Amino acid sequence: MLFLELAQTFERMEKTSSRLELTQFLVDLLRKTPANIIDKTVYLIQGKLGPDHKSSQLGIAEKIVTKALSLATGMSKNEIKSRFDKIGDLGDVAYSLIIDKTQSTLFQEDLTIEKVFDTLLKIASSSGVGSLDLKIRYITSLINNSSNLESKYLLKLILGNLRLGIANFTLIDALALCFTGDKKNRKILESAFNLSSDLGNIARILAEGSLEDVKSISVSLFIPIRPMLAERAADSKDALNKIGGKCLAEFKIDGERIQIHKKGQQVELFTRSLENISSNFPEIAKMFADFDSNEMIVEGEVVAINPANSKYLPFQSLMRRRRKYNIQQTMETYPVLLNLFDIIYYDGQNKMDSPFAERRRLLESVFGNVINNRLRLIDQMEVSSIDEIEMFMKKALEYGSEGLMLKNPNSIYRAGAREWAWIKLKKEYSGTITDSVDLVILGALYGKGRRVGKYGALLLGSYSKEDDTFYTICKVGTGFKDDVLDNLYQKLSNLIIHKKHPRVQPGALSMDVWFEPTIVLEIISPEITLSPVYTTGKDMIKPGYGMALRFPKFSGNIREDKAPEDSTTVKEILEIYRNQLK
Ligand code: AMP
Repeated sequence: MLFLELAQTFERMEKTSSRLELTQFLVDLLRKTPANIIDKTVYLIQGKLGPDHKSSQLGIAEKIVTKALSLATGMSKNEIKSRFDKIGDLGDVAYSLIIDKTQSTLFQEDLTIEKVFDTLLKIASSSGVGSLDLKIRYITSLINNSSNLESKYLLKLILGNLRLGIANFTLIDALALCFTGDKKNRKILESAFNLSSDLGNIARILAEGSLEDVKSISVSLFIPIRPMLAERAADSKDALNKIGGKCLAEFKIDGERIQIHKKGQQVELFTRSLENISSNFPEIAKMFADFDSNEMIVEGEVVAINPANSKYLPFQSLMRRRRKYNIQQTMETYPVLLNLFDIIYYDGQNKMDSPFAERRRLLESVFGNVINNRLRLIDQMEVSSIDEIEMFMKKALEYGSEGLMLKNPNSIYRAGAREWAWIKLKKEYSGTITDSVDLVILGALYGKGRRVGKYGALLLGSYSKEDDTFYTICKVGTGFKDDVLDNLYQKLSNLIIHKKHPRVQPGALSMDVWFEPTIVLEIISPEITLSPVYTTGKDMIKPGYGMALRFPKFSGNIREDKAPEDSTTVKEILEIYRNQLK
């Protein structure tokens, strides 16, 4: 199948802000895609070369792409740069530069989806001496063989900025419609996705097999599972009611969740957004490789500790371990402690359907003898009264935890689900949100005074899983140090979009710039109020009104460990609002 067909679909998608239309374009495209390339097509639609945990990532530097575009078009790099400064996107620059070669016979060969995919894979995976020239040659040759429309989307793919607003959710809808004719089957596809994190593979199974084959997808070692999530309760009484009385309470530590897969000496670590971060925590990988047990998938919260006194360090310190370079040195300055809290797979057996209490016992029997100053099981206690919860909460806070996690002892592990089987209970709310929320950046206003040339206020949003949409909730401009603001400005510049995003509900707000929802910030605010301006919870409490954070302030934590879909949900915000009124 020709890449031109994909480029034409992208062009249609770029022009719409309607989710329904996006889904329909996807269905039309998937229907005519041959089964043997449907996985590659799905990855390209996602702007990827494979599932996040496996593939080499696109996102080639602008400098390299500029050089290739210059070689292919004969236009100087300076001219390209000045057009880029005006238009803001190299794909669009290519579109304006390249004559529509579909009219002519200049092509050396037709670009097929397969050819493009394979070449992009070579570009993304070439490294070492000479790889720069090689990348430029591949990109130049792709441009030479493409029309203006094709090069526009080729370059957006290569740069990693396709930004069509297609989320997993939309793709799952389209796959259900295309292959089963019924959107209701999205549930089955979603469950398979929660276990396998690979929509390309699911598409291929659907195209070559059936829905029954998708149902049989199960846990596999080295394929990250979407983590089970917790609901948020207002206070111990509320939590105890919702969890049904007796439960297992655990310390809730503010670190980073990691999922560890081990088979013999092979160990891989994944974040909660399913990225492979094995190289950031080499000491954990080694500890598990040396561990005398065969196959397992376990989960825990990793936290940076002060090497002098073993006290927990704030989340920002842990984020230093996310950097690519000088790992050895950061490893010494910021040692980490892993607090295990779940076991999902052990010795060839899927443990997801075992009750939580049983999984905990297994965890204890497997790790009972290896507890040390770098690895422990999370502190746990059985509780059945408010007094017991409060006593354990006090201990947790003294210890440096941010609160408690209450877990239903009979609950199974439901990948990707946020349910009342797990409840997070941070410090008592006492009528205000002493607790923080995690919100995604949706737009910005340009700054004034000291902040000219930067963003003055950022528009933030919450997430609604029900319709996979981000809703606005506040503008924040305080709490930012200058270097953080500079850094954010750089990152956000690469996320600018030029239309209303299909997954954002902005209401009547107008901003200077809009972004692809990507970056999650931790925000503190004393209160949630009703507001006619913002769309979070619109009409749910009072007609014409949504919810707003009052006096929002950035806590200093950019939640690099969270995907935009991990932001605080509209449901949680409503819950906090209702609890304020109690
Ligand atoms: P939140 O990010 O506020 O929605 O809280 C959920 C997160 O708390 C999980 O994804 C884990 O990263 C973290 N966490 C800390 N302690 C625990 C625990 N004992 N059990 C489960 N998750 C925990």
